[in-house]
Amino acid sequence: MIGPGMRLSSPVAATVSVVPGRSQSPPDPSPDPPPPRVEVRRSRRRRRTVGAYREGDAVVVLMPARFTAAEERQWVDKMVARLEQRDSRRKPSDAGLARRAADLSSRYLDDRAVPSSVRWVDNQQARWGSCSIDEGSIRLSRRLQGMPAWVIDYVLVHELAHLVVPGHGRDFWRLVERYPRTERARGYLEGVSEANGLPWNDGD
Ligand SMILES: [Zn+2]
Repeated sequence: MIGPGMRLSSPVAATVSVVPGRSQSPPDPSPDPPPPRVEVRRSRRRRRTVGAYREGDAVVVLMPARFTAAEERQWVDKMVARLEQRDSRRKPSDAGLARRAADLSSRYLDDRAVPSSVRWVDNQQARWGSCSIDEGSIRLSRRLQGMPAWVIDYVLVHELAHLVVPGHGRDFWRLVERYPRTERARGYLEGVSEANGLPWNDGD
């Protein structure tokens, strides 16, 4: 939340309150992670904007000092839900990944790629994704988790396209490039590889 024109050391009139997590619901057979601890930081410098970010295991919600208690509750719920939605798009479960793959196949590959399974794996260091054309299975490196959803979607489209066109010929890329953020995602992954001293490997 540091932008141009904001000085870190300037005195900001702020009050901090901690809202207990929403933990009143009955036990769930497949429990979600516990609700995050929420810390509200009010500032007189804020007029209308509300912001939120994760800090350790807490969610920090920034809001104008003049907000009422009701507005605070409303905005805390809204911002926590928004963060959780973003996180779940960045770290989908295996089932979520399979749904995304089906959706992408339908949108960009005329439903021609029908994988038998799509899942996360831990053992791919040099590759972001791989697929077994014989089995029709797709595996994505867990290192992609937390990256923007459009980057994960690119890797899914890439592996899905291999179920239609093996190899990396012109036909293959023509298919992959139906996904509009292909170039941008490749650049993103190339940058991550370079920053981590990994060989840039867009293949497989
Ligand atoms: Zn490939």
